[in-house]
Amino acid sequence: MEPAHSSSGPAAAAEARRRVSVLLPLPLPEPYDYAAPVGQDVAPGDYVEVPLGPRRVVGVVWGEGEGSVAEARLRPVARRFDSPPMPEIQRRFVDWVAAYTMAPRGAVLKMALGALGGLEPPKAQLAYRLAETGVPPDLRPTPARRRVLALLADGPPRPAAELAAEAGCGVSVVRGLAEAGALEPMMLTPRAGRPRPDWRLPGPVLSEDQRAAAEDMAAKAREGGYSATLLDGVTGSGKTEVYFEAVAAALETGRQVLVLLPEIALSAQWLHRFERRFGAPPHVWHSELTGAERRRTWREIAEGEARIVVGARSALFLPFAELGLIVVDEEHEGAFKQEEGVIYHARDMAVVRAHLGRIPILLVSATPSLETVVNCDTGRYARLHLPARHGEARLPEIALIDMRREKPERNRFIAPAVKDALARTFEQGEQAMLFLNRRGYAPLTLCRACGFRLQCPNCTAWLVEHRLAGRLQCHHCDFSAAIPQACPSCGVEGSLAACGPGVERVAEEVAQLFPEARVGMMTSDTLIGPHAVEEMVRQVAEHRVDLLIGTQVMAKGHHFPMLTLVGVVDADLGLQGGDLRAAERTFQLLSQVAGRAGRGERPGTVLLQTFSPENPVMQALQRYDRDAFLEREAHDRLEAGMPPFGRLAALIVSGEEMEQVDAVARRLGRTAPRSAEVQVLGPAPAPFALLRGRHRRRLLLKAPRSVQVQPLIAAWLAEVPIPGSVRVQVDIDPYSFL
Ligand code: ADP
Ligand code: ZN
Repeated sequence: MEPAHSSSGPAAAAEARRRVSVLLPLPLPEPYDYAAPVGQDVAPGDYVEVPLGPRRVVGVVWGEGEGSVAEARLRPVARRFDSPPMPEIQRRFVDWVAAYTMAPRGAVLKMALGALGGLEPPKAQLAYRLAETGVPPDLRPTPARRRVLALLADGPPRPAAELAAEAGCGVSVVRGLAEAGALEPMMLTPRAGRPRPDWRLPGPVLSEDQRAAAEDMAAKAREGGYSATLLDGVTGSGKTEVYFEAVAAALETGRQVLVLLPEIALSAQWLHRFERRFGAPPHVWHSELTGAERRRTWREIAEGEARIVVGARSALFLPFAELGLIVVDEEHEGAFKQEEGVIYHARDMAVVRAHLGRIPILLVSATPSLETVVNCDTGRYARLHLPARHGEARLPEIALIDMRREKPERNRFIAPAVKDALARTFEQGEQAMLFLNRRGYAPLTLCRACGFRLQCPNCTAWLVEHRLAGRLQCHHCDFSAAIPQACPSCGVEGSLAACGPGVERVAEEVAQLFPEARVGMMTSDTLIGPHAVEEMVRQVAEHRVDLLIGTQVMAKGHHFPMLTLVGVVDADLGLQGGDLRAAERTFQLLSQVAGRAGRGERPGTVLLQTFSPENPVMQALQRYDRDAFLEREAHDRLEAGMPPFGRLAALIVSGEEMEQVDAVARRLGRTAPRSAEVQVLGPAPAPFALLRGRHRRRLLLKAPRSVQVQPLIAAWLAEVPIPGSVRVQVDIDPYSFL
């Protein structure tokens, strides 16, 4: 019993203070108590500023006080923000995600407070417009002044800095015009005049299959209530057009819509499509927004001003006031799994969010994950199917090139059959794509004299040669070094040899084979920022590029009608390493890449270079037999008790001192909750036993689906003292086994 409730005396007056618990966006599991501010009403969900040690921190009122702080040390809430409170559903969502992922609640809250500045109401800005009295006759019309006046004659009022930038003059020119009486100042509210997406605009005429799917989804969006639906259709079948109908229906009912995309920065084409369909752009949310954009977007979402948000996984934590539909496009994508900080899967958490909010969720994919397919088979999710490409477009022919027979010359990587196909494609004035999921020139540099391999000093990884940049780079940390003249081990000069291809090396080979071909590179090294992608996409669309060479940044979404040939340089690449989903992921990625070919009227061809054409992945790709492939995967995983039929959770122990890491890992191994049902494998060195200078050990817990693993793990961790220099990360439903 808290003495606060039973004692009387001098402290009694203070005890009467109302307590509230405030969750802070810090790695803390529980909210802290604060005294409610005197004379101000605070309620759960309110954003408040509270003292924490010498600092002031923004947090959210989570509920009534819980007695976590002694009365004498209870400090008051400093202030309450004038902002719409965090909706109850979102608070429950934060609690849910924290409990499931075993992350501290405060760390999950931090993701929901993506832009703290958004708590302040937006400030009105000083702007200028043309004076109603017109331009004073005695005004000296310099060219700069004329440009400013012309801008304002033809557009909305703008702040001086913006006007000056557009007119290419100094701010003093604008001020001078105002002083001369040609312009008049006014206060501009930043939100003024942003057009809203219009659901009444007509969409395309849908095919029969498309219409059936669209009507089903639109009805769900209109009626509300929880439902989960997979929209399953081959690439180019019109899935986007179809889910736009559901978006329109949700907007019509006056609710907000969230569309999650795996890499929003790469989807300029998606945004253009949206704008064409709805007459206005959506709000976007991703890591590359500027601070001001984040603040404004966050606030507009909280206020319900933003009707539709398209974003990367973190958008799921935005404070939607009245969310009515979630769409997860490319639901199978690994990018939805966040691997740092709070480790969560945005698709799975989106389903939870829909459930809490009693709204429909739509998962969209041409190659749905086994998890989702099994959920459909068991009736947890509904399924809508689009069996064919839209219009005349047909799926491309897929052929396997057996590299054991069709051998390129030494240090060449393009098989003769692919070379011939490229030549034909260029002759016919069509476009081609060569896909290799490997950045740089060569993945490995080796000494021919002593066999030494150049390795990152901080990671268990080879250094990758980037010849264009003239450097060796680690792809897992920021280590890079000049390419040495001599072997660092044996000292022999000129003995270092590049082994294997990266995209730069493929480009070099193409330049020798087809010196006339105009080549565009699409990799994360060559395309920095969303505009670079957009520019490259435009060049391809305008046929200023004959051949695209790139990594997976090129695999997604893009629609190029003249692209008829796709060559995959190393189709086996993703199958190495043998992780749980290697086959599934390779199938998905290559299907996606293949789906770039023949999207217009001209038929497409896909050539997969492989050393194991008999592999079930290659066979399924060639025959378009996804269902047989998934059945086989499902069968294997069921036998092994692996997800989605069993549960996995990984513990990653890491630290700079190997002995300490090993000691903690061994101790966790000894105290692991093993039983007839629960198995714990490890500890074992992670495949990246060293990553960014930290030693890493892994343990893997495996249990049937009926077992709730979180309490087991919590009890397990509570028993093992973990020194401050060692970190133990819990990864529920791991996707990465590195
Ligand atoms: P998916 O998302 O399944 O890959 P998209 O929605 O991108 O397919 O459609 C592929 C192409 O076909 C796009 O250019 C799209 O605009 C077009 N398309 C699809 N359905 C229709 C339709 N009913 N009428 C006109 N164009 C359509
Ligand atoms: Zn490294």
